Amino acid sequence: MRIQGSTRLVGIVGHPLDHTMSPVMHNAAFEATGLDFAYVPVQVHPDDFHGVIEDLGRLGFAGFNITMPYKEDIIDHLDEVASYAQIAGAVNTVQCAQGRLIGYNTDGRGFLTALESEAGFAPKDTTVIVIGAGGAACAAVLSLALAGAARIMIVNRTPARAERLARRVAERFRECHIEVASPRDDLSMSAAGADLVVNATSVGMYDMPGLPFDVELLGDSHLVMDLIYDPAQTEFLTKAGERGARIVNGVGMLVHQGANSFEIWTERDAPIDVMRKAVEDEVAARVAARTEAAQEVGA
Ligand code: NAP
Repeated sequence: MRIQGSTRLVGIVGHPLDHTMSPVMHNAAFEATGLDFAYVPVQVHPDDFHGVIEDLGRLGFAGFNITMPYKEDIIDHLDEVASYAQIAGAVNTVQCAQGRLIGYNTDGRGFLTALESEAGFAPKDTTVIVIGAGGAACAAVLSLALAGAARIMIVNRTPARAERLARRVAERFRECHIEVASPRDDLSMSAAGADLVVNATSVGMYDMPGLPFDVELLGDSHLVMDLIYDPAQTEFLTKAGERGARIVNGVGMLVHQGANSFEIWTERDAPIDVMRKAVEDEVAARVAARTEAAQEVGA
């Protein structure tokens, strides 16, 4: 990549940013398309957040992604917020255009595009179980309701958080039937009737091994999606696949939300395959580095 005086900057604002895949994914896309853009991490301490956002516009950034813990706080700094981001109450992509900051949320679209392109799944009139009630679950539940899912059950360790999310969705999408359950409830009937089961918790990530849901309840009638992308294949997906379920990992959602951001900043089609390969290679490298480090500790 050649960085020169004319290079347009984009980046990611968050704290911490040690594990973000976005610089690798976007810089691979800029390189492949020959666009004169570079993507940089902008780690901002919470004490400095409010001052920094206006500076990014003034410094000539074409736009930026926003991640934890600022996806909600950013909204007060924006001149305009796209309708889905307003519904989500969270922004992950900002476009700097003629001195104005415009906020978008591409997570929901990334989630739906991954489901459709990788599994041919269309949510209209379906029944879905979403495990989790944090930011990723919110994107999944809202976009499923928006796409016409008939029933959504939110299963979360902390029921109050699931109830809050359910209330928000129910207010907007009255035709979608929303239920809340605890992982400790008997979910056999609900699982039997579900078309899609989504893990939107952190359980199964490289630093949080485990299963977010009883895999005995899954079978060949289910599509199972795990939003986790590191590792690319979680134990949950492996076990669901062994029981006959069709499975989709979280790489596609990450790539498609990033592709949508790329298109907002550059007004060009994103090179999806290049972005996917960059993420898959990066995940494989991280898994290999962790395995090697664990072997050194064990040696
Ligand atoms: P978050 O807002 O912190 O929410 C975390 C969720 O995980 C909550 O529902 C939490 O339950 C649950 N959880 C955490 N530890 C748990 C445990 N030990 N047992 C049971 N439940 C537990 O995080 P997030 O941003 O939603 O991210 C969730 C996952 O989605 C992460 O793995 C992240 O990598 C992935 N993600 C993927 C994409 C993608 O593009 N593929 C995008 C965003 C996120 P409580 O409410 O009970 O705490």
